[in-house]
Amino acid sequence: MTYSYTQISQYLSCPRRYRHRYLDGWQEKDTRAPMLFGRAFEQAVAALFRREDPAAMLFEQWGVCKDMGLTYSGNDTWDRMLQQGIQLLERFAQDGRARVRRPRSTQQIQFNRTLGSGNNFVSYIDAIGELDGTPCVLEWKTTSARYPEEPAGISALDPQLVCYSWMTGIDEVAQIVFVRKRLVEVQYLRATISDEKRQEFATLVDDTVRRIESGLFLPHSGIRFPQNPCTTCPFHRNLPRQTRSGRGRARAQTRSGPWSV
Ligand code: SF4
Repeated sequence: MTYSYTQISQYLSCPRRYRHRYLDGWQEKDTRAPMLFGRAFEQAVAALFRREDPAAMLFEQWGVCKDMGLTYSGNDTWDRMLQQGIQLLERFAQDGRARVRRPRSTQQIQFNRTLGSGNNFVSYIDAIGELDGTPCVLEWKTTSARYPEEPAGISALDPQLVCYSWMTGIDEVAQIVFVRKRLVEVQYLRATISDEKRQEFATLVDDTVRRIESGLFLPHSGIRFPQNPCTTCPFHRNLPRQTRSGRGRARAQTRSGPWSV
């Protein structure tokens, strides 16, 4: 069996959701515009380092999504996001702080690791390059709000960065955050991941895989706002109707949700 960071984080956010998605095969077509835009933008950044036309790549990749019935956030539109993306690519190129010296072999690199249980763990690293002359793992992120920069060193707590450091064995990691707002901004967030943090992550992965293979799929324990995985879970449409509308008794037999057990 092959596991990935996404699988581990899905299980940790809600084991039941993990089961629906990875074991029951309840895969929904994802139409979230920010997520699909992020994928298109990554292709454009990769093109930039290959000295191709990044704006043309963004237009092409984002164009593929245009008629997919995208779900936009706030005031976003397809055109507005494209325009912001082009501005961000220009800003990033002007900054010149990140470098990828061998863009054809050091972008979107697959790393594999054999776990103690004999299972495989796979990661795809956006790039291995340099930030301000320091060799490091590079990860691209697109967002509509700035990432926090305080307290100092907060990026070292990002589990995905810890995962990438664990997979590559490289201490230095950096998130390049492309912020889509009225005046676009590129954030350069660096972190040094300690050996202790990598070991902790390895233990977390082993422990999570053990739970999955033991068949432990309890649902998330209930609603607690504002951060609750149920509010964005594609399976929450199976919740009892009174939970979703706030009135009436349950009329539907549910297959999912903290109320279904
Ligand atoms: S609705 Fe909530 S409890 Fe149910 S699968 Fe989704 S996240 Fe888990």
